[in-house]
Amino acid sequence: MSVIGHDAVVQRFVRALQAGQLHHGWLLYGRQGIGKHTLALYLAQHYVCESRQACGQCHGCHMFLAGSHPDVCRCAPREGKRDLAIDQVRTVLDFLALSGSESERRVVIMDDADRMNMQAANALLKSLEEPAPGSLLLMVCHDLMRLPATIRSRCMLAPCMPLNEAQTMQVLQTTGISDAYISLAGQLADGCPGRVFCMLDDALAEALAEWQQLTCDAAVADVGAVEAWLRRHVRTVPHALMAEIVIRAHQPQLGQAQSFVRYRALDEALTALARWPGEVARHSLRAAPSFLALFLGLRQALRQAESLRNVQ
Ligand SMILES: [Zn+2]
Repeated sequence: MSVIGHDAVVQRFVRALQAGQLHHGWLLYGRQGIGKHTLALYLAQHYVCESRQACGQCHGCHMFLAGSHPDVCRCAPREGKRDLAIDQVRTVLDFLALSGSESERRVVIMDDADRMNMQAANALLKSLEEPAPGSLLLMVCHDLMRLPATIRSRCMLAPCMPLNEAQTMQVLQTTGISDAYISLAGQLADGCPGRVFCMLDDALAEALAEWQQLTCDAAVADVGAVEAWLRRHVRTVPHALMAEIVIRAHQPQLGQAQSFVRYRALDEALTALARWPGEVARHSLRAAPSFLALFLGLRQALRQAESLRNVQ
C-alpha cells in the first residue's frame, strides 16, 4: 500500500523505527478527510514488515495486506455509538499486553481516539505509562484537544496537514469520481479529499453541480428552484458540502464590500450558513426550511448592499 502526502510523518516514523527508537504511542491528528487512517495503516505495515519498510513482499506484509496479520488489531467506535467504549479499549490493551504470535511486535490502530470517554482514557493511561515491550499504539483523531492532557503528553504527537492541490487531485483521481465532477470535487475537498468521497455517487455529484449553479448568486437566484432542489436532495446530500458551495460562491464579495454595514451583513449571513450543518445536527432542525431562511438572509444582505450603493 502507499499513502499520498504526509511524507514528514512517514519519514519521522521510519527513521525512529529503523533506529530502534520508536515511541510506543503515536497520536496522528489533523482535519477530517486527509487520510490519517490510511497513514496509520501504512505505518503499521512498516512495523510488521520484516525489513521495516513496508516492502509488500515479505510474509508480514502479505498477512498485513490480506487483513489477517495476527499481531495487528483495529479499534473504532461502534456503528451509531458516540463513544469509544471502555470494553473496546480494554480489549486492545489486553491484546497489546500479549506477546505477539508472529514476532515480538503488536500494533493497534485506534480510530477516533478523541471519542474515548473518561473511563476509557484512564484505562489507556496506565498502558501508556508502562507499555508492554514490542507494543505500538497508533491513535488517530480530529480534535486533539478533546483528549485529556495526560494522554497527549504521553504520546508522540504527529500533526497531519491537509493535502496540497496536486496531492488532492491525485487522491481524487484514484477514487474514480467522474471526470465531469472532479474539478468541483477538488474545490470542495479543500485539501481533505475524504470530504468528497460521497461524490463517487454520480447522482449525488450531479445534484451538487446543479446546486452550485442554482446558488451561485443568491441576490438573483430562483428561490422556487432552490426550494425544489432542497425538497429533492436535502436528505441525501451532505449538508457541509451544500453550505460550502454557497459560502465559496459569495465569499469574494466580502472583499468587495464598500461599507462596514455591507461587510457585516454579508459576514453574518455567511457565518450563519457555515454554522448551519452543525446546528441541524445538534438541534434536529428541519434542514430544508432552516437552510432556506438563511439563504434568504444572504439574499437580503446582498440586495441591501446593492440598494445602499445605488443611493450613494
Ligand atoms: Zn515487508
